[in-house]
Amino acid sequence: MTVPRAAEILSSAKRGVALTGAGVSAESGIPTFRGEGGLWTQYDPVKVASIDSFLADPQSYWQVSRERGRVALAARPNAGHVALAELEAVGRIVAVVTQNTDGLHQDSGSKRVIELHGSGRKVECLDCGRIEPRSEVQARLDVEMPPRCPNCGGSVLKPTVVLFGEPMPAAAVQEAFELARSADVILVVGSSLVVYPAAEIPLVALRAGARMIVVNAEPTPFDRWAEVVIHGRSGEVLPEIARLTSE
Ligand code: NAD
Ligand code: ZN
Repeated sequence: MTVPRAAEILSSAKRGVALTGAGVSAESGIPTFRGEGGLWTQYDPVKVASIDSFLADPQSYWQVSRERGRVALAARPNAGHVALAELEAVGRIVAVVTQNTDGLHQDSGSKRVIELHGSGRKVECLDCGRIEPRSEVQARLDVEMPPRCPNCGGSVLKPTVVLFGEPMPAAAVQEAFELARSADVILVVGSSLVVYPAAEIPLVALRAGARMIVVNAEPTPFDRWAEVVIHGRSGEVLPEIARLTSE
């Protein structure tokens, strides 16, 4: 009876906040980093996703990124993303704070989306700062690897995502923690909750008195503090919760 219980908790929420991780996009065909079938069973994260290795060898980074970009740009929101947009539309959550960089929350209609790890939909020049859509850069990767800035002519381009060793976007982090401090319900979806400071957001919300719901395929270190824990697929569980919540 955990789904009705989660819906009951959300029905009374006035300042609910969702925190999402890679799991919410798994059913859209984007591999997670951790967990079964996760990308990190294939790659060493520090080698492919740190700023130091990017700067030392952008070609290797882009070889992995090229394939992931192809998948992510073609991905469509799944029923889990849509359910979160519905929960916002009926006022049960006020925002989605996400660790994802795929832009699928925005595509599904979520209005207030805080991207803690940046966006994979854009690419920036590390020299002149020019921003280009990822889709345009993706289209020329067949002839240019690694891609270079068409504006200043030489510097290598980097997706506007936060790599290991890079600071997180300060404004997004501040907004996320403010939301957590004022949340009455925190709904955690598809996150292994081992990446800090993102994993700190539920802790801040709990300390401020929020009730916690966890929807994740596998157990998380935070399950013990949740009022409701649902181990399942977010694309199946969230629509059920949203349906019962808006009734
Ligand atoms: P993670 O990969 O560490 O963990 C994902 C969690 O989701 C796992 O615990 C897994 O059990 C669970 N999961 C898998 N499929 C699920 C499903 N269908 N429904 C519910 N849960 C499911 O993800 P993370 O904690 O977000 O941290 C990894 C970091 O990697 C993120 O910070 C993000 O920046 C980046 N990342 C982003 C994307 C994306 O944009 N879609 C994808 C992979 C990684
Ligand atoms: Zn440039």
